[in-house]
Amino acid sequence: MRNTARQLLIIGGSDAGISAALRARELAPDVQVTLVVADAFPNYSICGIPFYHSGEVADWQHLAHRSQADLEATGMRLLLNHRAQRIDPSTQTVLVSDPTGQRQVLHYDRLIVATGSEPVRPPIAGLDLPGVFTLHTMGSSLTLEQHLARQQPRSVVIVGSGYIGLEMADALTLRGLAVTLVGRAPTVLSTVDAPLGQHVADELRRHGVNVVTGTTVEHIEMHGIRLLVSGTPDFAQAADMVLIATGVQPATELARAASAALGAHGAIQVNRQMETNLPNIYAAGDCVTTWHALLQQAVYMPLGTTSHKQGRIAGENASGGARQFAGSLGTQVVKLFDLAIARTGLRDQEATTAGYAPLTVATTAPDHKPYYPGARDLHLYVTGDRHTGQLLGAQVLGHWQSSIAKRLDVFATALLHRLTVEQLNDLDLSYTPPLGSPWDAVQVAAQMWQRAARNLSSA
Ligand SMILES: Cc1cc2nc3c(=O)[nH]c(=O)nc-3n(C[C@H](O)[C@H](O)[C@H](O)COP(=O)(O)OP(=O)(O)OC[C@H]3O[C@@H](n4cnc5c(N)ncnc54)[C@H](O)[C@@H]3O)c2cc1C
Repeated sequence: MRNTARQLLIIGGSDAGISAALRARELAPDVQVTLVVADAFPNYSICGIPFYHSGEVADWQHLAHRSQADLEATGMRLLLNHRAQRIDPSTQTVLVSDPTGQRQVLHYDRLIVATGSEPVRPPIAGLDLPGVFTLHTMGSSLTLEQHLARQQPRSVVIVGSGYIGLEMADALTLRGLAVTLVGRAPTVLSTVDAPLGQHVADELRRHGVNVVTGTTVEHIEMHGIRLLVSGTPDFAQAADMVLIATGVQPATELARAASAALGAHGAIQVNRQMETNLPNIYAAGDCVTTWHALLQQAVYMPLGTTSHKQGRIAGENASGGARQFAGSLGTQVVKLFDLAIARTGLRDQEATTAGYAPLTVATTAPDHKPYYPGARDLHLYVTGDRHTGQLLGAQVLGHWQSSIAKRLDVFATALLHRLTVEQLNDLDLSYTPPLGSPWDAVQVAAQMWQRAARNLSSA
């Protein structure tokens, strides 16, 4: 006989799936929550993986946001190492297989798809050679760690100069490997403006990383016991191992086969309540489109922060709620050696494409009163609309202990609430000389922007 309690089934046990399950357990204790998770690592902090490989986090198990026992104590049921094979929306069932191949059919009243993303496999010959790795899950992290421990590689080529490639360049340098980082873009971290990317490249080089930009890797071949990585124009580098970090794509196979509509970047299309086009099926996290709060349209923006929020909303709504996702601004921060770099909202070119009339102004300001020892420069870029004064975006770079993230978060908060650049000056921000200035660097940057905008309009 089928259980008569309402059944919430969730596919995926990472940021989005667990956030959904926790929220459902919190709001609707009468709903039975079951998670089908393809691996054995529910609720691990994927974002912490680079810090495990660097040795800064000694034990991979410390990366767990919560233990399996903590999760089960909330009343959710975890089917680990179980893979969802097929969703049948007409019968409201999911076909699931366990590691022995045994299959069972699970009924749902509401389903949340949180299958995440998978690493892009770029068109490079030799990706399957031993010693070539991708990094996306705890499983792939443990495989990589085993290789590092057993083979003791002394050098690595990292393909991809986005934030994961950069974090791993930092981590493996700390680990003692000679690191070559190869990217296609003209500067590293192409999600920030080129001069800031240049600061980041300088920081990597200062720590011994061989940074190669504007280069497309095409081949990886065995060269004796080493790997020879080559590409255009004119790149060849032998190394003991290769790490591919060229981005992710949404894992949508299951949802697509069930006729879920797809949107931006092939991700599952959801509305702001995290509903798919299929009845009683929600989706959240890296597998879905994300509502952009400024662009007012769905984009693909896979991030841990967003996955947590979307999962929470899907969990709430699948348990009877009606919450809307406020939207993302692509707010992001990365720590690389002694630097941190953060961005939120739109950059100049993105704002132009979106139909704004942007002005971006760069400012350098100290992180606290220079008479107090240890003051360091912050580099701030503020983008605003030159006609309306609306704040559109910001980027901040500086020493990682200069509260980069929290300063950027002031901009992110202002953006979500659609403040003008001028209104940043009204914010009652905290101040003591060892930590800031009466006008915080955020406000100094806002004032510089206003001055430049005034000069422009009076010119
Ligand atoms: C190295 C690294 C560092 C990162 N650092 C940051 C950071 O600093 N800040 C940030 O915001 N983001 C960061 N991210 C991104 C962030 O980790 C992801 O956005 C987030 O983990 C996505 O969560 P998710 O739940 O949507 O999907 P995923 O983490 O991809 O998990 C998908 C889940 O679905 C399960 N699954 C998939 N298919 C099936 C199936 N058929 N049946 C059953 N289960 C299935 C998987 O087992 C897994 O549990 C980082 C990512 C990586 C790889």
